[in-house]
Amino acid sequence: MTKDKIWLSSPHMGGNEQRYINEAFNANWVAPLGPNVNGFENDLEQYLGNKVQVAALSSGTAAIHLALILLGVKMGDEVICQSFTFSASANPIVYLGANPIFVDSEIETWNICPIALESAIKDRIENGQKPKAIIAVHLYGMPFKVKEILEIGERYQIPIIEDAAEALGSKYDGSFCGTFGTFAILSFNGNKIITTSGGGALVTNSKIDKEKAVFLATQARDDAPHYQHSEIGYNYRMSNICAGIGRGQMEVLDVHVSKRRDMNQFYNDLFENTDEVQVFKEPYSEYFSNYWLSTIVLKDYETREKLRLALEKENIESRPLWKPMHLQPVFEACPYYGGNVAESLFKTGLCLPSGSNLSENEKDRIKNIMLDFFEI
Ligand SMILES: *Cc1c(COP(=O)(O)O)cnc(C)c1O
Repeated sequence: MTKDKIWLSSPHMGGNEQRYINEAFNANWVAPLGPNVNGFENDLEQYLGNKVQVAALSSGTAAIHLALILLGVKMGDEVICQSFTFSASANPIVYLGANPIFVDSEIETWNICPIALESAIKDRIENGQKPKAIIAVHLYGMPFKVKEILEIGERYQIPIIEDAAEALGSKYDGSFCGTFGTFAILSFNGNKIITTSGGGALVTNSKIDKEKAVFLATQARDDAPHYQHSEIGYNYRMSNICAGIGRGQMEVLDVHVSKRRDMNQFYNDLFENTDEVQVFKEPYSEYFSNYWLSTIVLKDYETREKLRLALEKENIESRPLWKPMHLQPVFEACPYYGGNVAESLFKTGLCLPSGSNLSENEKDRIKNIMLDFFEI
């Protein structure tokens, strides 16, 4: 008999999601607008604080696309993007006919390296083009070096898009991730810290930008009794049903963050007595990670693969860290700045089951395999 699958990160309902969906059905608000959409945006604005404005969208990818449009990115422009990330961070650059410039990570947060970033900016300017935006990612929920990166953006007058798709509930120096950049984006895909089944959001400090985002996300209809368009629009708004799930999920977000942090502690305790495994941790006290995924680094690629296969054999999902964008066939021709930090993490790192809904029995199964594998 095969054992039940243990997932890396699976949806975890709080209980009230169904109630918000029922309200939508009862009022026949089964549409890409309605009270749940406004309610969910309001919940997120309250949660993030700092007077942010939130536009609920169909995905995090759509949010990055709209952020780039609102920053005026056009065909032939250059946009800097963290290489160590999921492809959705970079794809919207290409949707616009612009060119991604990839930058390596540093070893403390695994996110965009300030030194490599600055040399990329200088070189691109020397090359004749100043980058239009910088996409920095809080990967696996770990905040990037916010102070250093914002300072570089300020100095060169290049706006920052914060990809906080994996980092809702994470904080840097007491403020939530998603409140630092000119724009930030969130994702509520099925495997994220909270889910709306599929969805995302654009976060901004400007009410005008939020309104513009909503306008573009609803097919850019001019104010007229008939359908009139002076701009190209998109069908990117979140539905009132999905937003209902989101409202229920917001009620349990903090519980989910604390359970994911408990999972991280579980791995720290488990590997305390072996130096064969490095559990990825917050580097300094300013950093508070939601630990969306708990990740480890092994001594080499072979050990990583052996462990991954040992887990797979027991029907436990684990996954290599993100494959850097500059190593992806589709982005082969794009310029890259930095060394081999992201590449080496990709070779030796592994994401472990990290969900907020793992049972004691499931944790025991993981623990037993690890104890056996590392002979601890
Ligand atoms: C999930 C994710 C996205 C995209 O979000 P979707 O809602 O799936 O479109 C973007 N960036 C990162 C880092 C992600 O993990």
